[in-house]
Amino acid sequence: MPAQSVPAQPAPAQSQTPPAPSPQTRDAAARPASAVATSFDQVVDRAIEREHFFTAQMKQLHPLVETYLQNLKEDKDLGMAVPSSDVYFLGRLDMSEGTDDRAFVSPTTAGLGKRMLSKIKDQFVFKFLPLGFAQMVVLDEDFQRRYYDFTFVRREFLGELRCVVIDVAPKKDAGNGRFLGRIWIEDQDYNIVRFNGTYYPHPRYSYYLHFDSWRQNLRPGLWLPSLIYSEETDQKARMGETLHYKAQTRLWGYNLKDLRRNSEFTEITVDAPQTVQDQSQKAQDASPLEAQRQWERQAEINVIDRLQQIGLLAPEGEIDKVLQTVVNNMMVTNNLDIQPEIHCRVLLTTPLESFTIGHTIVVSRGMIDVLPDEASLAMILTHELAHIVLGHHLDTKLAFNDRMFFPDERTFERMDFARDRTEEEAADKKAVELLNNSPYKDKLSNAGLFLKAVQARAPHLKNLIRAHLGDSLLNGDATRMSSLMTASPQFDPKKTDQVAALPLGGRIKVDPWNNQLELIKTKPVAITAASEKMPFEVTPFFPFLTRFGAATPAKVGPAAVPEKSGAAPSGQ
Ligand SMILES: [Zn+2]
Repeated sequence: MPAQSVPAQPAPAQSQTPPAPSPQTRDAAARPASAVATSFDQVVDRAIEREHFFTAQMKQLHPLVETYLQNLKEDKDLGMAVPSSDVYFLGRLDMSEGTDDRAFVSPTTAGLGKRMLSKIKDQFVFKFLPLGFAQMVVLDEDFQRRYYDFTFVRREFLGELRCVVIDVAPKKDAGNGRFLGRIWIEDQDYNIVRFNGTYYPHPRYSYYLHFDSWRQNLRPGLWLPSLIYSEETDQKARMGETLHYKAQTRLWGYNLKDLRRNSEFTEITVDAPQTVQDQSQKAQDASPLEAQRQWERQAEINVIDRLQQIGLLAPEGEIDKVLQTVVNNMMVTNNLDIQPEIHCRVLLTTPLESFTIGHTIVVSRGMIDVLPDEASLAMILTHELAHIVLGHHLDTKLAFNDRMFFPDERTFERMDFARDRTEEEAADKKAVELLNNSPYKDKLSNAGLFLKAVQARAPHLKNLIRAHLGDSLLNGDATRMSSLMTASPQFDPKKTDQVAALPLGGRIKVDPWNNQLELIKTKPVAITAASEKMPFEVTPFFPFLTRFGAATPAKVGPAAVPEKSGAAPSGQ
């Protein structure tokens, strides 16, 4: 691909005239035979056509959809809004009959399965329905020119995409729940890549929320919803109550069928002769101890496969290696030799949790996001390492394959890796011992500070600081590894130079198609006010949009799931 600089700045705004056709866009040569839209009307027509294609496509796809919402209230002492409570939803999107979703986790199932746009029904005031957020992936299921007025705004770059920006408003009598806001259309195939606004007008006693919905080019010709930010600061609801919240919705796991473990079959066909020989030399029954270990290993593999297949666990990748390096540091300095080898994996969800499955340490994406430094990461991993060192076992009932046959949405009921209090306390004690023997021993005050932040925010962020599958950072009333807190400074939300915990979403980037993870490498931005620290908080999204295949090829680690379809060139 010829190197060509693409300005990151928005293109200069044009006057209120229809956009001129661009004779020289980047991939003009690779563009499909369909002609360039030559007038504003044609741009709108093409976008509407693509939107119908999109809606039809979405009916076939069943990504996971996660919404994490924080209600805000003004803290007079701090002079800023801070989270006062939170809500968490996780489900699988099913749009085959409208925008519906199957919930894995939901504080209330009220309203589930009802096909309605309203976020707040009068009998459930301030109860957000997961459905309402799932709806935000669709601009209008019946997007027709006759329902709307379109006004050209300007051309603008979103990432490397040159976009036509258009304001969209429903005509009178177009019916309830039409889209009102702004859309960004990429100027090659005319897909809507971002829309920002609300639905309008709202029915009596229901309210539509404001949202900013982003789509990414995940495969050639496929632009799929990935990130949605929603916020209200002063929406007046009933009884003089005001709605004040912010929420992130993330979608991933669009292509789960390629995540199945089929490598075993491949290994049989490509095995080199020596490998076969090696195995035949070893051909004998397992000793009782070996058999017990294999049995436990079987349970571990079953569970990990299952979690990966349903899209909760990321495939192996570069971040696992980063985590493993930290675990190795701990093991080397403590002279630990553990067989089978310990592996680390990432759970794709937001709530802060970690757990072990046999000799696999699992840490959630949200946890990795908010940890301020490597010593804090070491603290989390070492707690899990301690479980392994102490021989806390996985329940081997999971070694029977039939135990894995249950519907996805029951995962959180059927899989439980939480430890009892005694094991938790033992692991804490052992972990502190291991840490004091490690290269992190002089850097643990920040880890203690992180725990203080957890403790301070836990009463308001019950759905974030709780575990769904594994161990919470809280053990009853106690905080994990609380002995580390004694040597750490006071948690002070007002101090700009004290970073106890980071906002969500700053460290890990998920490929919503194949769930591969990538470390985000952005330079830290200097914090100028205490309100910018936002520990554990959600923020708006501004992804750098690119065309599929146009970005630098993703690094695929040796152990990563092979990309079967190969990197198809863009523009097909
Ligand atoms: Zn634990």
